[in-house]
Amino acid sequence: MADSIDRLIEEFSKLPGIGKKTAQRMAFYVLRIKKDEAKILAQAIIDVKEKIRYCSVCFNITEKDPCRICSDKKRERSLICVVEESKDMVAIEKTGQYKGLYHVLGGVLSPLDNIGPEDLKIKELLNRLKQDGVKEVILATNPSAEGEATAIYLSKLIKPLGIKVTRIARGIPSGGALEYADVNTLANAIEGRMEF
Ligand SMILES: [Zn+2]
Repeated sequence: MADSIDRLIEEFSKLPGIGKKTAQRMAFYVLRIKKDEAKILAQAIIDVKEKIRYCSVCFNITEKDPCRICSDKKRERSLICVVEESKDMVAIEKTGQYKGLYHVLGGVLSPLDNIGPEDLKIKELLNRLKQDGVKEVILATNPSAEGEATAIYLSKLIKPLGIKVTRIARGIPSGGALEYADVNTLANAIEGRMEF
């Protein structure tokens, strides 16, 4: 097979969840499309790397800093929802129920993977809480062992600041992920949050 097709198959097969067969199908799809379309695809990949950065306030991925949510004057600024990744924030936004701000940790505490507090945006969260007149922090880490441990760790740091700390309600299956929860389940989990 031509070298350039081999290379494309190899690059596609590095993508998460893409096996060799799918990678092959994708590569032959690219071969079939018009040159312009292929350029749009390639440019979209380059743009993500060149234009996307992290919001300096909430660490959400964004093209402008501060991000759309942090700069939205209509959002409730006394409420911060802490999530693991930007994709969790996207899932919560889809419910259309939550009107506060966010803070993206960039992961969870995971001793097995050598991820400690200094690897997450925890210091940045505490700095925000000290300045911003925040009244409640909702801990919306996933209901996994690491997510629960991270929520407990954060609640111990935040409570002494005199801020109400809540945890999203059960309902999302234990070990399940926020990003896959349906909109109603997630809306209920936020609505039914309980104080730590
Ligand atoms: Zn932001």
